[in-house]
Amino acid sequence: MGRLSAWWRSRVLARERRRYAQADWDAAWGSLPLLAGLNPAQSIRLAELAVLFLRDKRIEPAQGLVLTAQMRLTIALLAGLPILGLGLDWYRGWYSVILYPAAFIPAHEYTDADGLVQVDDQVKGGEAWERGPVILSWADVAAGCRLDGYNVVVHELAHKLDMLNGRPNGRPPMHGDMSGAAWTRDLSAAFADLGRRVDAGAQTPLDPYGAESPGEFFAVASEAFFETPRVLHAEYPAVYAQLRAFYRQDPLVRLGRGA
Ligand SMILES: [Zn+2]
Repeated sequence: MGRLSAWWRSRVLARERRRYAQADWDAAWGSLPLLAGLNPAQSIRLAELAVLFLRDKRIEPAQGLVLTAQMRLTIALLAGLPILGLGLDWYRGWYSVILYPAAFIPAHEYTDADGLVQVDDQVKGGEAWERGPVILSWADVAAGCRLDGYNVVVHELAHKLDMLNGRPNGRPPMHGDMSGAAWTRDLSAAFADLGRRVDAGAQTPLDPYGAESPGEFFAVASEAFFETPRVLHAEYPAVYAQLRAFYRQDPLVRLGRGA
């Protein structure tokens, strides 16, 4: 980056950051235990990504939701975490987050694998449209900040990363130092294992929804990577290593092996 763009970037960051009161920053940050253990450089980087996210994407409240600065910052900080080692460009090609007060029934049709038009009438906490918005329920966002392995923001944004190279199939673009074949081998093995456990009615270390498809497995594994890295690492160490290489960060070290 040249000197001029660095100067411009620091001016934009300073101006955008001043839009929010320190008390709102502190409240948003304090509500997110999964940010514990970030070092000072990572914390500054996350705050930068959060303000750039809010500058780039509109957060549009729906159904009468009153959107506060703290809610905006909470979503932006959560959105910044998966791209902490990647950069905002990984969220290219979409422009808005629609925020419902609570879980919602998406009012749209889709075409299924047999070419039939279906109406999606399942209650959802979040949704990510190809080349479209991310839709979130604030109740689910707020409930998902407990280091319990559920995090709707991470889940939907993992789908967005996966969609960068086409339909969500559980394989986002790989970095140059990664092997797509090794990724598919390691995630497929864990996906099959999770499916077997779900079919057997057993307790599962990850959200059983991850057994729905390889795309859902990647999103669910990403939730666990950031929220319960010890669980993911213990059950599926090869998946943990692949996600660490992809996200270019190591939550297990950050949150401690007791997390
Ligand atoms: Zn999903």
